Amino acid sequence: MLKPRDYKVDLQSKVGKQVVINKTTPAPESGGFYCDVCDCVVKDSINFLDHINGKNHQRNMGMSMKVKKSTVDDIRERFKFKKIEGEQKKKEYDLEERIKDLKEEEAKLADLRRQKREQARKRPAEDLIDDDIASMMGFGGFNSSKKPN
Ligand SMILES: [Zn+2]
Repeated sequence: MLKPRDYKVDLQSKVGKQVVINKTTPAPESGGFYCDVCDCVVKDSINFLDHINGKNHQRNMGMSMKVKKSTVDDIRERFKFKKIEGEQKKKEYDLEERIKDLKEEEAKLADLRRQKREQARKRPAEDLIDDDIASMMGFGGFNSSKKPN
């Protein structure tokens, strides 16, 4: 019976690569797409896909060209599977959303902390003014160390 492929066909790993070939280069390394089942080289990706989906190749794989008929139960199973898959995707999406919210919350908190720090930095400046006024008034002027609060 024919079966669907359970792997991804690699069509791109050789894109942009160069190989030197001569008479003695073995077929698998001579560029293009090599089929190890049929021991043949196909020159481009479309023809390679045609080849691995084709009758000769499938026969060499030991497949009859018959397709299994789906029963109602098969289809129900498939629907169930797709439904679960969809729910899982939704859950993942929700999680991403929640992580995003948390990060925003954290950023807000960091902003708040920064604001508080800036306010705290402004306060000693006010003290400084007080010191200036104090020295102007004639006391505490020579005391360069900070006065204990
Ligand atoms: Zn083949």
